[in-house]
Amino acid sequence: MRSDVIVAGGSIAGLLCAREVARRGHAVTVLEGGHEVGTPDHCGGLTSIGALDTLGVGERGAYLGNAIERARISSAGGGSFEVPGGGAVEVSRRGLDREAAREAQEAGARIRTSVRVAGMRDGVVRTSAGPVEGCAALVDATGVASLASRGMRSGIVASAQAEVMAPWIERGVVEVMLDAKRYPGFFAWVIPSGGGRGKVGVAGCGIDAPAALRELLGGRGGHSELRRVSAPIWVGGHADTFVDGRTVYAGDAAGQAKPTTGGGILSCGMGGVMAGRAVSAFLESGDAAALDSYRGEWEAMFGAEFRSQLAARALLGGMGNASLDALVAAVTPEVAAAAASGAGFDFHAGAIARALGARGAAGLLRRMPPGDVARLMAAAIGKV
Ligand SMILES: Cc1cc2nc3c(=O)[nH]c(=O)nc-3n(C[C@H](O)[C@H](O)[C@H](O)COP(=O)(O)OP(=O)(O)OC[C@H]3O[C@@H](n4cnc5c(N)ncnc54)[C@H](O)[C@@H]3O)c2cc1C
Repeated sequence: MRSDVIVAGGSIAGLLCAREVARRGHAVTVLEGGHEVGTPDHCGGLTSIGALDTLGVGERGAYLGNAIERARISSAGGGSFEVPGGGAVEVSRRGLDREAAREAQEAGARIRTSVRVAGMRDGVVRTSAGPVEGCAALVDATGVASLASRGMRSGIVASAQAEVMAPWIERGVVEVMLDAKRYPGFFAWVIPSGGGRGKVGVAGCGIDAPAALRELLGGRGGHSELRRVSAPIWVGGHADTFVDGRTVYAGDAAGQAKPTTGGGILSCGMGGVMAGRAVSAFLESGDAAALDSYRGEWEAMFGAEFRSQLAARALLGGMGNASLDALVAAVTPEVAAAAASGAGFDFHAGAIARALGARGAAGLLRRMPPGDVARLMAAAIGKV
């Protein structure tokens, strides 16, 4: 097999990268280690109409689910507040990836399944199906596993998710459950898919995620399951290195998922698109410096938001349940409305800052244990 570019990983980042490279007339082959594109479908599929517009993937009817009207954020003590949906929608990740694959194929990309990539040296990509020679570049879009294999594990949280049908899933309402004991450093969620179905998940630092999911589902009562999956989520912010020689990292492999929620459809998908543009420019010019434009382009779109999200993560991650209860109680409907105004689903760090800011902070600080106040202050002045 010969190809100008090999893309390892046939998910949203790899497929959109291949679509971009193929549309510019270059020979590109996607090698997907799994037996099928779009499987395992570990993703909650929560994204936004704005994100889908930006990614521009195929026929929406093939993957678009319900509009999300609002999100309810609750803490372990039972308090909660609601924020508007901010343009959020639920999609079938399997459907989205398959549409991205169709577009890449129509543009001329080849896709092979059940072929694992091991790496590239001297223009030869090593795969489970034998070597691929004459490659100008390898795009590593193999997800969180790539970060882990490069020693980056500190930003990984364990997660488990089930697709269920249950009477307690509210149409159009996403639930986010904060509980520093059960889900340290993350949260549990319910994402409605319509027809009484939804995706129910948990994630946290160092937790037994399948056991935490069993406990959550057991506590919720009657439900019927379609599937369960466990997968790592990356919340550590983007990697320092997007390009290493002729290997280009895209998507979760470059740490491009949101630090607050681990959401990666938009930021990883755009990582793939931008990596594809840079690889194409490199093929056309023969100048490896063309690859360096990729990181700058991605940072121009996501860098400031990711820095703010990392700061918000440091603040919230330092809170115990008493503080999370106080935070949730401090977010009155007026504070929630003011925080959400002008914020969207994809770029939401400003909304978190406003909720933690002047209007809610006074009440919050009065109710927080002193240890958490100290951690909050340390985080606020950048000492975490
Ligand atoms: C439980 C859970 C829920 C999530 N919910 C949401 C959500 O609601 N909204 C959202 O925006 N994001 C969500 N995410 C994050 C989102 O799924 C990822 O950020 C996104 O899928 C990253 O895309 P990617 O293409 O970079 O990598 P991945 O989607 O992880 O794909 C990597 C691909 O590489 C393949 N692969 C791995 N190793 C090899 C190899 N050696 N050779 C060849 N192929 C290989 C894999 O089979 C896979 O197809 C969730 C993640 C998890 C775990």
